[in-house]
Amino acid sequence: MSDRVVILGAGQAGVQVAATLRDEGFQGGVTMLGDEPHPPYQRPPLSKAFLKGAIECERLHLKPPAFYADRDIDLRLGVRAGRIDLRAGRIETTDGEDVAYDALVIATGTRPRIPSVPGRDLGNVFALRSIADVEALRPAACGMDRFVIVGGGYIGLEVAAVLREMGKAVTIVEAEDRLLKRVTSVPVSQYFDALHRAHGVEIVTNARVAGLAGDGVVTGVLLASGRTIPADAVLLAIGALPNVEAAHDAGIATGDGILVDAHGRTSAPNIFACGDCARFPSRRYGRSVRIESVQNAIDQAKCVGATLAGHPVAHDPVPWFWSDQYRTKLQIAGLFDAADAVSIDGTPGEGPFSVEYRRAGKLVAVDAIDNARAHMLARRRIADETARDAAPAPVTQSG
Ligand SMILES: Cc1cc2nc3c(=O)[nH]c(=O)nc-3n(C[C@H](O)[C@H](O)[C@H](O)COP(=O)(O)OP(=O)(O)OC[C@H]3O[C@@H](n4cnc5c(N)ncnc54)[C@H](O)[C@@H]3O)c2cc1C
Repeated sequence: MSDRVVILGAGQAGVQVAATLRDEGFQGGVTMLGDEPHPPYQRPPLSKAFLKGAIECERLHLKPPAFYADRDIDLRLGVRAGRIDLRAGRIETTDGEDVAYDALVIATGTRPRIPSVPGRDLGNVFALRSIADVEALRPAACGMDRFVIVGGGYIGLEVAAVLREMGKAVTIVEAEDRLLKRVTSVPVSQYFDALHRAHGVEIVTNARVAGLAGDGVVTGVLLASGRTIPADAVLLAIGALPNVEAAHDAGIATGDGILVDAHGRTSAPNIFACGDCARFPSRRYGRSVRIESVQNAIDQAKCVGATLAGHPVAHDPVPWFWSDQYRTKLQIAGLFDAADAVSIDGTPGEGPFSVEYRRAGKLVAVDAIDNARAHMLARRRIADETARDAAPAPVTQSG
């Protein structure tokens, strides 16, 4: 067992590792380094209630301040970790102080992917990952009228819903031929396309952004088709990149994520990774996966914390996720892209419905729309049916 565990990244996964270490009776030192000024906080409300101004910043905090003191967790905020020296067991930090570790957990999350198009540095061009991002975006959301959202994924659609509720004109520009293509099937994409159009959102699919126009501040989005969409503000929401650089530079194996085994161990001794930045082998789905969700961050962090405390637990969950848009709740269980058959229970647009995904007759995923019961049942059914299929999955660099 290690004497001093250092956790790099004070987010959802980082705080859960610290909590689990103490819950599992770990008596050694626990230090958490976070580069943001805020105590660990939840991100889902950033594109929902917090953006709307419906909740205060403090409501985002994952734990009250006393939590860290009571459990002797040394939480250091505003400190960015730099080079990891594997041989010496030390991390350089931006506050000039090296931090020594016996075991290190990398939980550095992701950052927004920014397209390399001209004009991306103009004023009133935003991305959304942190409280600071919302604090930058909110004045524009309140004071401006015309928004273009580049990217029709969850974050783009949730922000579109908030902006429409604030009465703003919103255009979504999507490179694919449908919204949410990376994460769900055609019927669910069609449902959300219709939902947003019914709320007055303009949706432009098959649209490649050639650049952002403006002089100092953005005035429009230029499409490769030659069309320019006027904009007072632009949100870039085309996905996220895992923060793997510290691990990669230290010689730890990375691909799209830091490669870990079922216990969160990286290729380097005594170095673990978990949460959005980690790619792990899913026996259930027969391949390696990197999942960006609260559930995955918590569950994987619990496994890492327990393993470090001497009670190894393997991580192979049924992933689940949710998204709130207007008054509609989408709940996703499992990974839909493993499926070879799709069926719909209910009628989209006429109340709750769910879409089931099967592979070789076994349930691998369910998207439930306004149907919490179907979602909860699905998690159990998928767990049962995919457990029977479980086979070792190699950690590879591709999804
Ligand atoms: C706007 C938004 C909405 C979302 N909505 C949902 C939702 O509805 N449902 C859902 O399940 N999930 C949602 N998610 C995803 C969810 O928030 C993430 O999966 C979760 O936060 C992952 O936790 P994490 O600890 O891995 O990463 P994070 O929470 O991102 O924490 C990582 C921390 O590490 C810090 N860090 C990075 N590098 C360093 C360094 N070198 N030194 C020190 N600190 C560093 C980062 O700044 C960050 O604070 C949403 C995310 C966003 C951004």
